[in-house]
Amino acid sequence: MLRIRFSLMFASAALLAACASTPEGRSQVLLVSDSQMNQMGLAAFQQMKANDKLSVVPAKSVYAQCVVDALVRELPPEWQRLPWEAQAFAIKEPNAFALPGGKVGLNTGLLRVATDQDQLAAVLGHEIGHVMYRHAGERVSQQQLAQAGVALAGAYAGRRASGDNVNTLMAALGAGVQVGVLLPFSRKHESEADRAGQRLMAQAGFDPRAAVTLWQNMQQATGSDGRPPEVLSTHPDPAGRITQLERHVAELMPVYEAARASGKRPRCRDD
Ligand SMILES: [Zn+2]
Repeated sequence: MLRIRFSLMFASAALLAACASTPEGRSQVLLVSDSQMNQMGLAAFQQMKANDKLSVVPAKSVYAQCVVDALVRELPPEWQRLPWEAQAFAIKEPNAFALPGGKVGLNTGLLRVATDQDQLAAVLGHEIGHVMYRHAGERVSQQQLAQAGVALAGAYAGRRASGDNVNTLMAALGAGVQVGVLLPFSRKHESEADRAGQRLMAQAGFDPRAAVTLWQNMQQATGSDGRPPEVLSTHPDPAGRITQLERHVAELMPVYEAARASGKRPRCRDD
């Protein structure tokens, strides 16, 4: 029954393709509404938290939540209203993601690379940028993943969904690393998320220069298998990214200094 309802929902969504636009005015074709995307994001996150193979690390989750809260306070009101939640998973591979609906996950291995709150804010700001720009919605729409959506909706209703569809949908949502499906964001999405994330950092009182340091650290880091970390597969072109982030520092330093002067001095501690 539920399966049919969601099929119809996706079919009608396809007929009513919405033309939205990003905060910078790039037009987007979205076949899936925000509330549908949020529902899928929540379902994926619930599934991850319920997965026996992924254990949540409460102390690191508190640290990540502190950084997320500071960044979210700088979002436009419609985005602040989401129930933002951060969870740290005990996984060595340095990576992070943010799902539609405001669910943020990071692997504890990320904290070896993002070594202070400003660098962590650089990663999480970038991931929140993907959410605010509805990149997952664009990916799902572009790839016509309606069938995967139906499968995940089934899983949400407590049934066992077929693994492949769920994994593909998780990848499109941005959480592919958790299920072993790598789906790189496009360069356009990456540079939008970088710009949004670095600006959010500065507005929240995190040092925007840390975004440069973070990606330099990431380039030098190795994954658990000795190869470059997976985050570089899903977030390509680190060298181009660093150049762009460096270019924006000068413009963002006054934003950062004004935020600090107005009392925005986040104190998020990794202990
Ligand atoms: Zn990204």
